[in-house]
Amino acid sequence: MQSAEEAVRNDELVYKYDSHKHEARWEISLLTQLDRAIDNGEVWVAYQPKLDVASNRVTGAEALVRWTHPERGPISPDKFIRIAEEFHRIERITRFVVNDAVRAAVELRRQGLELSMSVNISAQLLRNPGLPGMILEILAVHGLEPEKLTLEITETDRLDRSSRTFQMLQKLVQAGLRLSIDDFGTGNATIDYLRYLPATEVKIDKVFVQAMEANKEDLLLVQSIVEMAHSQDRTVVAEGVETLAALEILKGMNCDTIQGYYVCRPVPFRDLLAEIKEREAR
Ligand code: C2E
Ligand code: CA
Ligand code: CA
Ligand code: CA
Repeated sequence: MQSAEEAVRNDELVYKYDSHKHEARWEISLLTQLDRAIDNGEVWVAYQPKLDVASNRVTGAEALVRWTHPERGPISPDKFIRIAEEFHRIERITRFVVNDAVRAAVELRRQGLELSMSVNISAQLLRNPGLPGMILEILAVHGLEPEKLTLEITETDRLDRSSRTFQMLQKLVQAGLRLSIDDFGTGNATIDYLRYLPATEVKIDKVFVQAMEANKEDLLLVQSIVEMAHSQDRTVVAEGVETLAALEILKGMNCDTIQGYYVCRPVPFRDLLAEIKEREAR
């Protein structure tokens, strides 16, 4: 006979097994729905303004992918981007987002607003030799200069440090595109990448920005990142700025650009346009 203790343990095992199975099934169903979702408009792009600290003006925006599922509601990109990377859908999503972002920049220009546009590029995608061609073609089709587009390299843990990847990065830079190191300070996106990535921008992750108001160590860390980046002629963006206090601290550190709910949440394109126009009118 099974003891009560064993029964509990076995139950736990069954439970764990079921939840894994459930998780795997959910991932597969997401994946099969993702292709359709891009075609039928469930996947769309939100834009979050970037505020230049010195001039207090919106000088850029970041494109952030969104998936609004008809039954499940919004699905976080942190969830489906990981799955897309694993199952070779990231190129398709990236093409969709870059296309939307470039069109958005052209539309802003038509309205008299000159902004630089940022898109997220998974480090994994840098293994794909077709990447520069894909991006340059989208820019050419819409008539936007490469200098207006910044590629935020995310998930640098997965950066393949071969000379091939490095050559591709050089090619993108030579074409005029800007590179940014996203999530700086987290995971493997460390000091080492300042040497390896020909990036003109460093983006401080929101975990540090949000901790810095309460914690002196984090504050000093953020300050060091700003100083280090500046000493190498790179600009610094702080993400996750939610309060005026955080903005003031960053201003005192000479941080160049901020992004966060304090300025504006990521919003549909028409709301971005309205937000910028309203700020310009003030
Ligand atoms: P990320 O690139 O580090 O983007 C910043 C995240 O912080 C975004 O989450 C943004 O909505 C959120 N955020 C902005 N301001 C604030 C704030 O003041 N407070 C807080 N708490 N959060 C703020 P989101 O949109 O859920 O995106 C999550 C991640 O998904 C992104 O992190 C990025 O790594 C990835 N991602 C989003 N769009 C794309 C894409 O088109 N391609 C790729 N490869 N990855 C993407
Ligand atoms: Ca980003
Ligand atoms: Ca990220
Ligand atoms: Ca981040």
